Amino acid sequence: MGEEPSPFCPKERSNMADLIAQAAEIICRSNMTLALTGAGISVESGIPDFRSVGGLWSRYSPEEYATISAFVEDPEKVWMMLREMDEMLSASKPNKAHLGIGELEKLGYLHYIITQNVDSLHQAGGAENVIEYHGHSRSLSCFRCGNRYTAEEKRGEYLPKCRCGEILKPDVVLFGEAIPTKALNTSFQMASSAQALMVVGTSAVVSPANTIPINAKQNGAKLIEINTERTHLTDSVTDVFIQGEAGKIIETLVVEVKKTAGLVTS
Ligand code: NAD
Ligand code: ZN
Repeated sequence: MGEEPSPFCPKERSNMADLIAQAAEIICRSNMTLALTGAGISVESGIPDFRSVGGLWSRYSPEEYATISAFVEDPEKVWMMLREMDEMLSASKPNKAHLGIGELEKLGYLHYIITQNVDSLHQAGGAENVIEYHGHSRSLSCFRCGNRYTAEEKRGEYLPKCRCGEILKPDVVLFGEAIPTKALNTSFQMASSAQALMVVGTSAVVSPANTIPINAKQNGAKLIEINTERTHLTDSVTDVFIQGEAGKIIETLVVEVKKTAGLVTS
């Protein structure tokens, strides 16, 4: 039998294969593995991260549009961005990285996924134990009376309003808002007991999500980082840095985990 075709160019192949084998080894040895994901994991689904050129965030700066004070001051202005974001998110599909993460969870090699994303693509990719650190965009709430509506039922309405007349806000955590208590506490507990942490597609600059890798490392977890670029974690807490697009790396990693675990023959 010939070798399976590699998605990587020949020069990168041996180094990449070696790093992926190291990551698979860490995952197979761990009894408690977490993933922390950020906007980068959804870039291959067509959702720009904060750095993508020409995407949503180059027209609506997050500092100006994605803050709770901006929403309170001028909800109509912030809804211009939210409406475009909702159109984009509701049309998006999980990519190979989300699917691979879902498969690792099903195989029992990944226990919880803490995501900073609000796009629900981990669930669409088959994952079940998803902690949505920054909320999600599947529902909208009213500040005044606390009523909640599904995004689906309010999609045709612009501006979406509560029956009390107040403009609704999606249940995403804007800058300046508190992290949902359950997500915060569970993530902290998980990070303290993890033996391995996969950090995928996050610049790890948004606080307090960026304390999760540090906390996990201090408690003895091995860190695998997958990113197209180096981050401040790479030279400080990362054990295995795999540089490139999450989709093909995670797809290859799942195959390697199966081989390492003896679930398939190579
Ligand atoms: P970020 O934009 O600060 O960083 C994204 C990281 O992903 C960067 O380090 C980049 O190098 C990396 N990256 C880009 N494409 C990649 C790919 N194909 N494969 C692997 N890595 C890739 O994102 P953040 O750290 O998540 O922080 C931004 C905040 O804004 C978070 O709260 C985030 O959830 C939110 N946000 C969410 C979405 C979404 O729900 N999809 C999109 C944009 C921003
Ligand atoms: Zn109301």
